[in-house]
Amino acid sequence: MTSPESPAIPARLSRLPELASDLWWTWNRAREVFRRLDYPLWRQSNHNPVLMLDRLTPSVLEHAAADPAFLARYDETIEALDAMRASTRTWWRERVAADPSEIVAYFCAEFALHQSLPIYAGGLGVLAGDHCKEASDLGVPLIGVGFMYPQGYFRQRLNAEGWQQEVYEQLDWRCAPIAKARTVDNKPCVVLVPLGKRTVLVQVWEIRMGRVRLLLLDTDTEQNAPWDRELSARLYGGGQDTRLQQEIVLGLGGVLALRAMGLKPGAWHLNEGHAAFVILQRMRDLLAAGQRWDDALAEVRRTTIFTTHTPVPAGHDAFPFHLVEEHLANCWGSMNGYGEQFLALGGYDNGQGQGPLFNMTALAMRSAGAINAVSQLHGHVTRQMFAPLWPDRAEDARPVGAITNGVHVPTWVAAEMAHLFERHLSPAWRDQYEDPAFWERIREIPDEELWHARRALRSYLFQFIRERARQRWVEDQAGAPRIVAGGVMLDPEALTIGFARRFTGYKRPDLVFRDVDRLARIMGGAGRPVQLIFAGKAHPADDAGKHRLQAIFRHALDPKFGGRIAFVDDYDLSVARRLVQGCDVWLNTPRKPLEASGTSGMKASMNGVLHLSVADGWWAEGYDGGNGWQIIGQAASSDPDAVDAADAEALYRLLEEDVVPTFYERDAHGLPRRWLSMVKQAIVTITPRFSARRMVKEYVERAYAPAMTKADAKAVRR
Ligand SMILES: *Cc1c(COP(=O)(O)O)cnc(C)c1O
Repeated sequence: MTSPESPAIPARLSRLPELASDLWWTWNRAREVFRRLDYPLWRQSNHNPVLMLDRLTPSVLEHAAADPAFLARYDETIEALDAMRASTRTWWRERVAADPSEIVAYFCAEFALHQSLPIYAGGLGVLAGDHCKEASDLGVPLIGVGFMYPQGYFRQRLNAEGWQQEVYEQLDWRCAPIAKARTVDNKPCVVLVPLGKRTVLVQVWEIRMGRVRLLLLDTDTEQNAPWDRELSARLYGGGQDTRLQQEIVLGLGGVLALRAMGLKPGAWHLNEGHAAFVILQRMRDLLAAGQRWDDALAEVRRTTIFTTHTPVPAGHDAFPFHLVEEHLANCWGSMNGYGEQFLALGGYDNGQGQGPLFNMTALAMRSAGAINAVSQLHGHVTRQMFAPLWPDRAEDARPVGAITNGVHVPTWVAAEMAHLFERHLSPAWRDQYEDPAFWERIREIPDEELWHARRALRSYLFQFIRERARQRWVEDQAGAPRIVAGGVMLDPEALTIGFARRFTGYKRPDLVFRDVDRLARIMGGAGRPVQLIFAGKAHPADDAGKHRLQAIFRHALDPKFGGRIAFVDDYDLSVARRLVQGCDVWLNTPRKPLEASGTSGMKASMNGVLHLSVADGWWAEGYDGGNGWQIIGQAASSDPDAVDAADAEALYRLLEEDVVPTFYERDAHGLPRRWLSMVKQAIVTITPRFSARRMVKEYVERAYAPAMTKADAKAVRR
């Protein structure tokens, strides 16, 4: 939304605000329109066109409105926008014979769409955002439902000692691509959610992203008590009590909002347990309509899809029963005496010594007809982990499938790589990237051109890193340690290894430092320098994670490493894009089997950044022997320290014997031929299989379509 003081938009460019507020622009050539309009402002606004339009000077707009080259790009983009909206020939329409008035409701606690909307923390949100973008491309009639967190997760800064500081900023609504959602009779959508003995008012915001919409629930309205206004302020902030109340608002409020807007879901996808209270609201509705418990539950099961995302026990929300009873006090009356049955759906003892709790994953697993994990290996781990839910079934018979994650290719592939694909494969590569045979032609791309693109992407990364250090210097005169650790001494020609993820124990960000001297020798090899760039946040309550982060900061300052280690602060979507496009190697060292899937390695591989990873999550199925490297430690026992030692040893050996020599092996033209053939192999093998396109199609064929056509999977036309 633009403010009253925003500059007037010339009539010739009248649709700019509309383009800016439809996130479709983020994964299309449409971004060129904003870039060209005012490049410095584009960068200053951190690629936020809504903010940019608010600040543009009238003369820039007038100039653009008279510039034929700009107008050609503008017209082409608006045409593409209209064509996308008007098109009825989508993959969904051609494949699925569902009632056209029905939608897929996709619930998630976080969505990562663009850095200007701070409503995500990490991988789960990125996955949900990519799912929505792909649903738009395929024409899946999907509506996302989540939370509007006006203060978001947090922005990360480090102090002079490298200790994480969390900064919360209130979102400026005027500068976000967001509008009030409207009910069927065109009023602002507001729903009432019973919480404890009171009723909380929930207002609903809407985001457009191509053919898909996202509804965001928000309790920050004047009619609510101060503590209720705060409920939706932050993502994963607050304690257990806040978390439970947020989840009640998401589940109950989401169902009510969809109804108020006249939307009829034929499939309900609960992405992670946070959203499982959807089940409660749907049961209340069916019971109120006179159904028996068993019939109502059967109907809910037939139409519910549940995806679980982690084997780490702490990742599965579980609450004491008394807390659930208390916060749902006003719901029990409408349950026709079935309150106990409902509580029993969530009852679960996870074996961590706390006894039975109300477990959101158990609730979802007992109430969903289709359950999946997010990689093949994670499927296996989940079937074992939740065995008590199906006490008399062998592992194979437990109803947990696997749909391996994927990433939205047009979002993550760098423009430089896209140009190569356009020139050498097809201008329409975005419509063909699922076909593995199509990618085989990538081998025809001349090595010179590929290497040129890879070097350009590395150099953009270094420009970005220097710019960020400059910002920190300008904003608060960051001292020398922070500037050095920020990466100003990195060498744009050296082999660059990236590691960016949440700072938490099982991801082992410190594994590579297990033998500091050996690492220093690898990094300082004569004529073969290696450098490491880290990024990632620790959860605000996770002091152990913050200590790990601080340890990296100290290594960055250790002269032994020659200024070749950097920590880039405030990891978010835009930092992620730079890193997964600009590094040479993407390092991933989780303690197996705790990484359910991981997705950053997929983004990297599609850009020709080679994955160096423990054989966990998606990499257990993605590695083919020549498209990256697998770290396989030969531990003598399952003792965590022995495993760490063995994994570190395997990692060092790969670096010493394979990664570094291959990168620096150059021919007479200065080209690393073997390296580039691995780069091609990574792009060919990983882009089609680990794309969100393959993933969303699997969800449609295996879960959404069967639910919506009231039939088994055979009803999906082939
Ligand atoms: C892709 C991404 C993630 C998830 O990456 P993992 O490999 O699962 O750690 C997290 N945060 C951001 C900002 C991302 O872009």
